[in-house]
Amino acid sequence: MYPSRFAYEAPSSLDEAIGLLHQGAGEAKVLAGGQSLVPLIKLRFASPELLVDINRLPGLDTLDVAADGSIRVGALVRHRDLERSTDLARVQPVMAAAAPLIADPIVRTRGTLVGSLCHADPQGDWAAAVTAVGGHVVAQGPGGRRTIPIADFVTGPFQNVLAYDEVAVEAVIPAPTGQVAGGFLKLERRVGDFATAGTAVALELTGDRVSRAGIALTGVGSRTIDARAAADSLIGQVLSAQAIAQAADLAAEAAQPNSDHRGSAAYKRHVIHTFVTRILTRITTTSERAA
Ligand SMILES: Cc1cc2nc3c(=O)[nH]c(=O)nc-3n(C[C@H](O)[C@H](O)[C@H](O)COP(=O)(O)OP(=O)(O)OC[C@H]3O[C@@H](n4cnc5c(N)ncnc54)[C@H](O)[C@@H]3O)c2cc1C
Repeated sequence: MYPSRFAYEAPSSLDEAIGLLHQGAGEAKVLAGGQSLVPLIKLRFASPELLVDINRLPGLDTLDVAADGSIRVGALVRHRDLERSTDLARVQPVMAAAAPLIADPIVRTRGTLVGSLCHADPQGDWAAAVTAVGGHVVAQGPGGRRTIPIADFVTGPFQNVLAYDEVAVEAVIPAPTGQVAGGFLKLERRVGDFATAGTAVALELTGDRVSRAGIALTGVGSRTIDARAAADSLIGQVLSAQAIAQAADLAAEAAQPNSDHRGSAAYKRHVIHTFVTRILTRITTTSERAA
């Protein structure tokens, strides 16, 4: 199938890009890595009148780990950049664990983390990882910049809170205050597939006790699920078998899977339970913790 006719602009400044989106009055779309948008256009699930290609905008390809441990992921940082970042692996294990599980090497070379958050696919992996670490998105529009917590950024399946003339310029992963631990596990039918079920766990520990926890699920609902009750159950706890079992029960309860060609709802819930148990159990070995 051929896409509908559309205009294409590749601005050289962010202000110009925002101006083009503004003129587009809701009929223009940002093009980042194109790994979700281009297939949608080819299938005519999306028919924008104008594509505003942000790939030539300066300063958006920065992956910066600040001295305090916060991570800024510019809108043109590719999945591959995150996969290769040794800083990321050191500072934020859940992000590093998710990176190589996104799609395949071709998609990872072009696709971006920020684009993935904007696309808001209920089976997207990055939204789960960023939710688990409590990250936020920085957007810029005609009125200036604003910061949007990830919990408020995605409003539904394939929907986000951005105005039609805003560009998401970066995602920010906040600096941890305790010792960091975590992981990301994903069940896929074959390598490169979207998640049948996926789980992101991000913890901070003070001594042996959990001081901050985030658990988020992908593929098991109409949007990324923040398994808040499961995460909260770990606060102040030592990661005992009992604490792990309780968190896994609560995470499985939070899942809202449908039965489909990837598996039954009960099976997907069981996978979530197993993943939470597995990630938390691994953390009890010191090798899974980042300094
Ligand atoms: C074969 C295949 C397999 C895949 N498998 C997986 C997988 O296993 N896990 C997974 O998580 N993803 C998967 N993806 C999706 C992939 O990760 C995409 O790269 C990602 O979802 C979108 O990033 P992008 O930069 O390509 O965005 P684009 O395709 O360019 O844009 C996607 C949407 O976000 C908007 N957008 C993008 N960037 C911005 C911005 N900075 N500001 C405002 N709006 C913006 C666009 O307008 C568009 O609506 C797969 C894709 C393919 C083609």
